Amino acid sequence: MKHIVRVGKVTIGDGRIVVQTMCNTHTDDIEGTVAQSLRLAAAGAELVRITVPGLQDVPHIAEIRRRLREAGCDVPLVADIHFSAETAIACASVVEKVRINPGNFHRDHEKAREKFAEFLEVCKQHGSAVRIGLNHGSLGAFITEKYGNTPRAMAEAAMEWIRMAVEHDFFNVVVSLKASNTVVMAEAYRLLQQAMEDYGHVFPLHVGVTEAGNGDSGRIKSCVGIASVLSAGIGDTVRVSLTEDPEAELPVAKYLSDRYSRTSPSDTASCHPRTCSGNLSRQDYILRAACDWGPKLLNREVDDITFPEEMDPAEAEYLRNEILQAARRRFYKPEYIACPGCGRTMYNLQAAFEEVKAKTAHLKDVVIAVMGCVVNGPGEMADADWGYVGEGNHKVSIYKGRTPLLRHIPEEEAADRLVALIEAEGLQDG
Ligand code: SF4
Repeated sequence: MKHIVRVGKVTIGDGRIVVQTMCNTHTDDIEGTVAQSLRLAAAGAELVRITVPGLQDVPHIAEIRRRLREAGCDVPLVADIHFSAETAIACASVVEKVRINPGNFHRDHEKAREKFAEFLEVCKQHGSAVRIGLNHGSLGAFITEKYGNTPRAMAEAAMEWIRMAVEHDFFNVVVSLKASNTVVMAEAYRLLQQAMEDYGHVFPLHVGVTEAGNGDSGRIKSCVGIASVLSAGIGDTVRVSLTEDPEAELPVAKYLSDRYSRTSPSDTASCHPRTCSGNLSRQDYILRAACDWGPKLLNREVDDITFPEEMDPAEAEYLRNEILQAARRRFYKPEYIACPGCGRTMYNLQAAFEEVKAKTAHLKDVVIAVMGCVVNGPGEMADADWGYVGEGNHKVSIYKGRTPLLRHIPEEEAADRLVALIEAEGLQDG
């Protein structure tokens, strides 16, 4: 049975790919968050997510919602919750949808299950929808001890919470399994879709490549991963995560929605790769190339890609390198992971990411993460070799893998200290 989910006025799971994004304002900045939500809704966001770091922010999101409705904007809001079951439960009666990772509700897995059951009851009473959002890198020990940090672990973890929702007669559920690694995320979604079909309850999937970075690379990585899932007839809503203003995500998400929306949930054959011709903008050309080639590369149907002979050779070589790297078939520059930032970000993430990229562009065979907060950043860096994590108060922590090497480094020194550490390690290895 395929379940259709209602989130306020929006339906997810009817074959149309719903476009969504997330505010990067602070939630206690009510005016700023209302203004950004209005801009996002006007630019095509059908759902707007807002972080709710703790119980103290629940009245803030309630007031944001009230002001949006007063302004005539009925875009459904999604509360983004990490760790706090109490905050999730409080938000379930305030907004249309709540995004959680139930495994993080409590260290004790049985207690996390109890809290999840309590949360589902509140959602049921208020008609709220839920996204079970599990990211590669933030799975609990309960699951990684059994399956490792793998796509299988992501799908199995999601199935536990899906079964619980079904056992509690709660079906207003969307699921996401995001990773920055396109191979991992595509495989995780495929495994989960198969597991749901075997179980007999297929819930809509929210598809995204998390921490994709910015610029052409972020767009290409997002399209390679998301197109690989959507072109297989899997997925119902997308968020493109760029380390840029959230408005910039929407043209990419809308391109994916236009290209892969289906006429009915069972109509995978009618996925209609848009046969664009004529004068495309550079961005649309890049998106189209990433969607055309990404699935073929990830499915191992091709090993290399070509562009028309009339194309500028330097641009063709650049795009070839970018798409091959996004599909993890060849690495021609450092691999960057950078979160989009949200209301938890306490520093200028976009500027820091640009500085780190500029100062590390000469390095090879290294994965560098630039993350917006110390609460989730270290956990969500997944398989990064190095991490630059903003602490707030103009201070930065530098990680090697999951281990913090330096803490409270002044922002103006942090990128240089990171480069020095990476180069020193390279000398030792050499
Ligand atoms: S890692 Fe980035 S996007 Fe995730 S909660 Fe922290 S600041 Fe927000």
